[in-house]
Amino acid sequence: MAEAPDRLEILLELTRRLTADRPLEELLQETTDAALELLPADHSSVRLFDDERRLLLAGARSGAGLSAKPIAFERGEGILGTVADTGRRAIVADVKTDARFSQRPTGFPIASVMAVPIRAGGTVVGVLSVSAADADAFTERDGDLAQLLANCTAPAIETARLARLSVTDDLTRAYNYRYHVNRLAEEVGRARRYDQRFSLLMLDLDHFKKVNDGWGHLVGDYVLQGFVERVRHEVRESDVLIRRGGEEFALLMPATLEEEAQLVAERIRARVADGPILADWASVPLTVSIGVATWQPDETPSEIEARADAALYRAKERGRDRVEVAPPPS
Ligand code: GH3
Ligand code: MG
Ligand code: MG
Repeated sequence: MAEAPDRLEILLELTRRLTADRPLEELLQETTDAALELLPADHSSVRLFDDERRLLLAGARSGAGLSAKPIAFERGEGILGTVADTGRRAIVADVKTDARFSQRPTGFPIASVMAVPIRAGGTVVGVLSVSAADADAFTERDGDLAQLLANCTAPAIETARLARLSVTDDLTRAYNYRYHVNRLAEEVGRARRYDQRFSLLMLDLDHFKKVNDGWGHLVGDYVLQGFVERVRHEVRESDVLIRRGGEEFALLMPATLEEEAQLVAERIRARVADGPILADWASVPLTVSIGVATWQPDETPSEIEARADAALYRAKERGRDRVEVAPPPS
């Protein structure tokens, strides 16, 4: 039992770092990193249920195969989906002999798999899993350790998940206005302190009233979701997409200069206009107008917001389906 104190140290250190004010992504990453340190595994991942509790979405991964696209599992699908569904751990010595194993390509070799449920508030909220290229990698003791790890992290993960939910727009999964106000103030503070720039895009869908009038409100809602999906394709993970209300959005781009922000805005505009959005039974052509402003020293949050809004207004005036860049403050 020579390694016992080390494992204890790792767990103890982890529980110290899992403070409630950290973003969900970081907590999940701490969890998968710790799993890789504690267990004889090549790869570890955490998946959490989506809000409808139908899909297990990849939250964080550590170890082999990180360049491969992460796989989401449905409830009941594969070994992980079964663990999420039953709430019972699984230790599989060789996936070749386990009928539950999902054959979808992972991008790295897997022979052994172990998965444990993450529970919070009396329900399973996700699954912690590890895999190894060799067969027979995990013992029941490893299973206990994995469950201990999952139990340690679950409360912090659940707190962060609920905090995220309170700043998320229900319809589109973008951030909501409450988050916008706080985050914009934070970005201004950061830009001041570190003498950095950031950019703010204001986006407003063109003639959206006509979408509702022509196809109905429900299709309008689907179109809003389709719009957000298209925007996400064109932005970085670190960019912050916010639904300010109705069919108005903002994109906060940390550490981004004007030239790049304008480029991204143009890409978003082009992708939105690139063919109709398929929404329920309808096929709805859509365009968006965008105002771009890049933070200038000493600007307050409302000042940069006003400049981006004025640029957006100009894009509307000049015919819509356009990007306009705000001139620096006079
Ligand atoms: P433009 O911006 O190009 O000037 O025209 P617009 O028709 O988009 O302008 P306006 O801002 O006046 O209208 C926005 C419309 O968006 C009003 C409302 O019908 C619709 N809308 C706002 N929020 C929602 C929503 O949550 N769901 C749906 N379906 N429609 C919404
Ligand atoms: Mg509007
Ligand atoms: Mg509009």
